[in-house]
Amino acid sequence: MTTFHSTRGTDDALTSKQAIRKGIADDGGLFVTDQLGESKVDIATLQGKTYQQIAQDVLGLLLPDFTAQELGECIAEAYGAQWDDERITPLKPLGDDYVMELFHGPTCAFKDVALQILPRFMARTTPADGDADERIMIVTATSGDTGKAALAGFADAPGTGITVFYPEGRVSKVQELQMTTQSGDNVHVCAVRGNFDDAQSTVKEIFADTELNACIAQEDHVVLSSANSINVGRLVPQVVYYFSAYAQLLERQAINVGDEVDFVVPTGNFGDVLAGYYAKMLGLPVRQLVVASDRNNVLFDFLTTGTYNRKRPFYETTSPSMDILVSSNLERMLYYMSEKDPRLVTYLMNDLSQWGAYEVPPQLLMRIRELFATGWADEAQVSRMIADCWKDHGYVLDPHTACGYFVMTQMPAEPGTPRVLLSTASPYKFPRTVNEALGLESDGTDFECMDGLSEATGTTVPPMLRELDEAPVRFRDCVEVSDMGHYVEQCAGNI
Ligand SMILES: *Cc1c(COP(=O)(O)O)cnc(C)c1O
Repeated sequence: MTTFHSTRGTDDALTSKQAIRKGIADDGGLFVTDQLGESKVDIATLQGKTYQQIAQDVLGLLLPDFTAQELGECIAEAYGAQWDDERITPLKPLGDDYVMELFHGPTCAFKDVALQILPRFMARTTPADGDADERIMIVTATSGDTGKAALAGFADAPGTGITVFYPEGRVSKVQELQMTTQSGDNVHVCAVRGNFDDAQSTVKEIFADTELNACIAQEDHVVLSSANSINVGRLVPQVVYYFSAYAQLLERQAINVGDEVDFVVPTGNFGDVLAGYYAKMLGLPVRQLVVASDRNNVLFDFLTTGTYNRKRPFYETTSPSMDILVSSNLERMLYYMSEKDPRLVTYLMNDLSQWGAYEVPPQLLMRIRELFATGWADEAQVSRMIADCWKDHGYVLDPHTACGYFVMTQMPAEPGTPRVLLSTASPYKFPRTVNEALGLESDGTDFECMDGLSEATGTTVPPMLRELDEAPVRFRDCVEVSDMGHYVEQCAGNI
């Protein structure tokens, strides 16, 4: 029987459904299972399978208390016609290497892979205390990408509602319109007068506010939850595309069954690259996972020195979704790499909250470095990579993927081991940065930038981005930080 407990203690024994509904453990740790890797995915049968079939195999091992029928329904709903490529995450050659595009979902960012299926998982969980009327309301603060992907996933999902806060004037026009034009009867979008950190820390206070939570539970039968990548239900769907990459390499006859592969992963919260580690534990032949950062290179420093130190300047870069100082999912990697030592993890996380830093024992660092390589790119390098990759391969990178591309080109390839760069966003989500890098017109609106990029490169603007220009705006609310709690209460009465 597979059970989940906190990275910081083994007392809990939750099913995966309970862990998904609960999100984070009471002690602040992340849910993990000690059975991970006991059963493996049969890689000899991967070739020729669809993404959906691979998802059925992989998720069946990771979430064993969902029935095969429940998983099949979740998968069919999440990976259907809302994707503009039937392979869901298509693999394409890029010189001697490969790029796997994770941005073919409804919001053009890789977070769709997880956020299209998380609401479907949640709809198939049941309340702990048997209140059959209980609904879940997702509350999230966003600096851009997560908010829209979460809105698109949870819009009209049964038994759920969602409230998204974003900092007024600090997200791009495209990102703002993506959110304020969102359809669905259970969605709420609100600007906040403050910066992202203000909004984020107030959301955390709202989760911890027992009085407010008791009040909405009693009056509205609503519990609050998070769509952040700490939720195990958001992490495990990402394991699937690593196996899909392998299946596509087999189909291209780039490898034989059993051959090793390297993955290069643009990283912020360590969710995407952790999913690659889970894939390895499930039997995927992964030689190396390359952690690529932007100028906020806290992970690079950690992986090279063994000291994680979040007391450092925070840079707003051209790759905003990687601008992160605390990579929450690293905690899960530390748990597994320390041979499942919750006391060590507790000790390190206490150091992080008390001193803003921790240091792992040297043997642990050595073990981590055997699998995880690392590098980072500053903004000038990102810009140069977008130009170089277009010139060398006729392929347009977004600024996040460009960080990974830079790191990949800096590293020697291992002969016979293919390298797969994960591409996390469509370049059309960041048209101004891309146009500046390519020397194209970048003075006009974001939509003019998109049109210019399309014309110059012969690529197509994703319709869902281009059409935002004319979509009706549904949400114009803007509140003070101090009123966010009250806003959440109102929304809870309204889903
Ligand atoms: C979220 C995001 C990332 C970082 O992914 P993590 O799982 O947080 O490491 C990279 N690129 C884009 C475009 C993203 O939206």
